[in-house]
Amino acid sequence: MLVDIHTHQAHAHAHVQSFDIHQPLPETSWFTVGLHPWYVEASTWKANAEKLIPFLQLPHCLGLGECGLDALRGPDLSIQRAALLYQWELAKTFQLPVILHLVKSYEACWQLRHSLPGTPVLLHGFTGSVAWMRKFSELGCYFSFGASLLRLPHLKQVLEETPFDKIVLETDTAPAGTLEQLARQVAIIKGCEEAFVEQQLLSNSICFLGTNLV
Ligand SMILES: [Zn+2]
Repeated sequence: MLVDIHTHQAHAHAHVQSFDIHQPLPETSWFTVGLHPWYVEASTWKANAEKLIPFLQLPHCLGLGECGLDALRGPDLSIQRAALLYQWELAKTFQLPVILHLVKSYEACWQLRHSLPGTPVLLHGFTGSVAWMRKFSELGCYFSFGASLLRLPHLKQVLEETPFDKIVLETDTAPAGTLEQLARQVAIIKGCEEAFVEQQLLSNSICFLGTNLV
């Protein structure tokens, strides 16, 4: 069974749908909920973050996210950082893992992670360097690879060196069929059977989410 750890649409594979509080709640699927850094606003983020609380207590809520830091889009990073910290504390309170959206802000997040150990963290749509993978890996983070893995040549080496037990897959906004392509790509890069890859990725997803998905 392939698991799509982060998607914005419902589909036939086992998947965890990411939604924000302004959308209708996914009724049948596992989900995560959080304030996306693009839409955080200085005057409203705190009130919106508090609206997350009832969702975080639902049994099919598996995590907090996506939340994070984006240096290219959204409000000033100090506002994004405050919203992220608040959400990270919420995740800790409700014992949920955190799904991070990070763009050109690995350094800032790495510093934050040091001050907030414990909560499981996933860097979603990871496109960073081998060096950054290693730094976050030392902190026990998970890495989710999406459609960029099929496009960006440097990710081949990144995936090759990422500890196998920290890799999961996602489609994000790409078509659901991308998931099979990604799993095949992982099998090629890691040099192992697709069946083994599928089993390993399922086990990683369960470890990260802390919930038995089957
Ligand atoms: Zn997303």
